[in-house]
Amino acid sequence: MVSFEVIILGGLGGPSESSTQCFMVRPFDSSELNSLCVDGGAGVGHIMDTLVCSNEDLTVDGDEVNDDFHKYFRSLNQYHHDEDKYYKRRSKRIKLSKPVQNNNPNVKVGFSNKMIETLNDRSTVLEKAYSIYQGIESYYITHPHLDHINGIILNSPLMFERDLPSNKTLYGLNFTTEALQTHVFNDIIWPNLTNQESSNLHIETLKQSQIHNVNAFPNWEMLPFKICHGTKVIDGSRVFSTVYLLRDRINKNALIFFGDTDYNQHIDGKETGLDLLDAFWDYLADHIPFDEISGIFIECSSTCNYRDEQLYGHLSPQHLIDNLKDLHRKYNRDLNSRFDLNVIITHVKMVPTSKDPRLTILNELRTIAKTTPELDGIKFHLALNKHRFIL
Ligand SMILES: [Zn+2]
Ligand SMILES: [Zn+2]
Repeated sequence: MVSFEVIILGGLGGPSESSTQCFMVRPFDSSELNSLCVDGGAGVGHIMDTLVCSNEDLTVDGDEVNDDFHKYFRSLNQYHHDEDKYYKRRSKRIKLSKPVQNNNPNVKVGFSNKMIETLNDRSTVLEKAYSIYQGIESYYITHPHLDHINGIILNSPLMFERDLPSNKTLYGLNFTTEALQTHVFNDIIWPNLTNQESSNLHIETLKQSQIHNVNAFPNWEMLPFKICHGTKVIDGSRVFSTVYLLRDRINKNALIFFGDTDYNQHIDGKETGLDLLDAFWDYLADHIPFDEISGIFIECSSTCNYRDEQLYGHLSPQHLIDNLKDLHRKYNRDLNSRFDLNVIITHVKMVPTSKDPRLTILNELRTIAKTTPELDGIKFHLALNKHRFIL
């Protein structure tokens, strides 16, 4: 049974200012416009782009597919697991409403037909995009770096638009919400739109590893976990980020969304200290049966060519593989039971190289996983902009 559709409004980690991290999450096959977003590094402009290429006939096999950076590189087929090509062809013949097995995510381009039909009475792309924006009730922000919040900030006046007003809440752990209030919505960087209780914009602090009920979807719950993300330039103290665990209480399916993630998760750098990512994997293995994990959206910002000290609080393929090995060990799965996780790679830094760095990272991950028998069943995908993962 699939539960979710995740639309990649922004799947990149810069340095280009376009399409930085923002994932729109909705119940699968819903004709309502309600949604939530994990991070807000992209916004209405990207919703418009996604609308323009929303057509069920365009699959990732099609040449018409339009990804911001893809046109500068090679065939889009390379960005998805090999088996998916077969699967997508097959999925074109079956109706979308048929359940899709969890271990074979269906990847499409743009918004679903059902969503598009709901927008039929709006005539322009702008109107349609604003209506979709109106339906986003909550943003779960991983950390307050600009590439994760710029869309939220620039779009925020739309909440007060006369004909399409909306209410939104920005959720995060305390280091995120305090920074938003103090350093962004402070009447200096941006108007303090959160000033009055009656305002349309609210900021709410979540508690570490505590269940938060998602307003828009009563069956869904969200759990935030603090992780490390590099150090401050000025004094070397820790910078933090968040990994969110989203779960459907009815059918139990779970998705995991990582904010920026350090390869070194030891607090204070002490080998004997608490390892935050290790603690999260422990929680997952103790509370979520393996078969209920529909997908893990996790960053892998740089290729293996980067040394650890050049990662600045991010993961490279070897570090990600090491973490997946940890997860395998914690689930205590023997080598004969397939570890068939869907791992969707996000936040790649688009540095200038002759080959798309996303493809380099994907190939490195697959190559290392092949030499690691316990990880051979993992399917690695890339979170391409304007694509929709059905999980
Ligand atoms: Zn980032
Ligand atoms: Zn960051």
